[in-house]
Amino acid sequence: MKAAIKAAMSDKVSDRSAVSAFTPLSLPATQRHASPSAGFDAKLAEAQALLRQAAAFQPVTQASSLGAEDVVITHLIDALALDIAVFVLDTGALHPETLALLERTGAKSRAPLSVYRPEPKAVAQFVEREGPDAMFRSIDLRKACCGIRKTEPLARALQGYRAWITGLRRQQSHARADVPLIDTSEVTTKNLTQFNPLAHWTWGDVWHYIATRDVDYNPLHDQFYPSIGCAPCTRAISLGEDFRAGRWWWEDDTTKECGLHVKKPEAA
Ligand code: SF4
Repeated sequence: MKAAIKAAMSDKVSDRSAVSAFTPLSLPATQRHASPSAGFDAKLAEAQALLRQAAAFQPVTQASSLGAEDVVITHLIDALALDIAVFVLDTGALHPETLALLERTGAKSRAPLSVYRPEPKAVAQFVEREGPDAMFRSIDLRKACCGIRKTEPLARALQGYRAWITGLRRQQSHARADVPLIDTSEVTTKNLTQFNPLAHWTWGDVWHYIATRDVDYNPLHDQFYPSIGCAPCTRAISLGEDFRAGRWWWEDDTTKECGLHVKKPEAA
């Protein structure tokens, strides 16, 4: 009974265990985090079935940040030999480690991989007008930067697609606690269905998959970066800190989204 309550609680809380006081700090992320939940096999089967379903929505693409969840999804797409393209947004502010992983992924991925970048003129004008550190001065400026470097290229990347796949998980943050497996809220306005095959996965599930399939991942995860975005806006987290504490840490929790996943889903 106690074990059942403990398991239920660990499924409820967000990924606060990203860095535990009881895990040796020198271990790689695979050894630190890999810990499948009780329902891992069922969740894996669910994710595989959802990806097969997504593949029927031609044309369909995966949006990859090259984070831990996204390398799992790309690996699943490859392993299932699904006809699903992959794209990455290179914001022009990524870590060298992320760019190196992008190069390795492009070299070995079976699925076609595209890279979308912001409009150089828009970036140059913004930096000239507001300075390179504008994102730290106000939420509006941070969102303006995300708009130029992420949201606009994302809209271009999704043009012509009927469906896209993301690595959103319910445990990532309170804002994502209700992420559905299939989100149809943009079908009417954009003719776009979103698939979130890892919606039910825990952080331990993600790393269990990476560890057992020897999936290539961003070495920043070994340095306590659970969530990796642009270099200026991403930091390592400390013992006990929340999963999303490494992103836009100077802002209030409720504002911590970049615009890529801000909406109210209708379907589950
Ligand atoms: S995460 Fe930071 S650097 Fe990247 S687009 Fe947003 S504000 Fe700009």
